[in-house]
Amino acid sequence: MKVPFVSFKPLESELDKQIRDAFERVYSRSWYIDGEEDKQFEKLFADYCGIKYCVGCGNGLDALMLSLRAMGIGDGDEVIVPSNTYIATALAVTYTGATPVFVEPEISTFNIDVSRIEEEISDITKAIIPVHLYGQPCDMDEILRIAKKHGLKVLEDCAQAHGAQYKGKRVGSFGDAAGFSFYPGKNLGALGDAGAVTTNNIDVADMVRALGNYGSDYKYHHIYKGYNSRLDELQAAFLAEKLSIMDKINEDRQRTADRYLKEIRNPNVILPTVKEDRTHVWHIFAIRCEHRDELEKFLNDKGIGTNKHYPIPMHLQKCYKDLGIKEGELPIAEEISRTELSIPMYYGMKKDEIEAVIDAINSFC
Ligand SMILES: *Cc1c(COP(=O)(O)O)cnc(C)c1O
Repeated sequence: MKVPFVSFKPLESELDKQIRDAFERVYSRSWYIDGEEDKQFEKLFADYCGIKYCVGCGNGLDALMLSLRAMGIGDGDEVIVPSNTYIATALAVTYTGATPVFVEPEISTFNIDVSRIEEEISDITKAIIPVHLYGQPCDMDEILRIAKKHGLKVLEDCAQAHGAQYKGKRVGSFGDAAGFSFYPGKNLGALGDAGAVTTNNIDVADMVRALGNYGSDYKYHHIYKGYNSRLDELQAAFLAEKLSIMDKINEDRQRTADRYLKEIRNPNVILPTVKEDRTHVWHIFAIRCEHRDELEKFLNDKGIGTNKHYPIPMHLQKCYKDLGIKEGELPIAEEISRTELSIPMYYGMKKDEIEAVIDAINSFC
């Protein structure tokens, strides 16, 4: 049986009418940028996250980069980021002129190891970016404590964790600001690129909005050298429809994950762990295996789609050669990139598809 790594079909057929109606609504109004749909979605998403302000923007990378700029981070500053994340987290820092400083993850949760943060803080460190990787919230209490002690800003990277909770509060409501991506494959995905910043700080919200609109706070008045990074009306309209079933989407992913966790029984395979006091929304179901490449080929030969998150750690990417970090210096990130395998996970996976994945993994030796 063929099981794709990801499929949008179940969600698209469930929301078919709403999405087409949303298109009609926007198209008949002939208003495409900065209008009613944006306002409406921003309000809905802020309420959903349990925070005061949401500002839509062009994508998740911009959400992070604009937030950093709005927090005053730039040339000569350092920002702590996990060594195991998608490269956008580090690039957002680089684009402000600051330097990313990598901190190793815990291999059990893949998230930043909070016990290693303080040793990387220097006189020029200005912020920490915890990434709720694969959909599991980081140890936010400890991160907030460290940030307060050292006078650092906290920017949550929520690109993979829409709706996930830590001690009963949703991610995106803990830091000074948070960046979300609505890339189509994310748990809340647009029909194209889109992103948003959430914050309780009106100054950050206003500056992010101005920066994303050519640095303009009032038409043709440019107070910053800004960018063009705005949320389209069409995407906002589509996102509002999907947001209406966000919890259902995450619960469905959690049911699939529960089956994987209970029924995958293979001594060669290490399953992911979820820490106390938080919910995991399973953007990615990441297993580890010493014979990862053989397992991947075995599954692919059986028609089961897989992926690797991420095959080359950031510090070994060509573009970050200038940081001068050598192979072996961040061994946990390297071990994850060598052993991690992502297995099928998407809204609306059918019973027999889930079972085919479980059976295939259990028969690998
Ligand atoms: C997807 C992603 C981003 C970037 O989002 P885009 O919308 O693709 O720019 C940032 N951080 C993480 C952890 C991501 O997974």
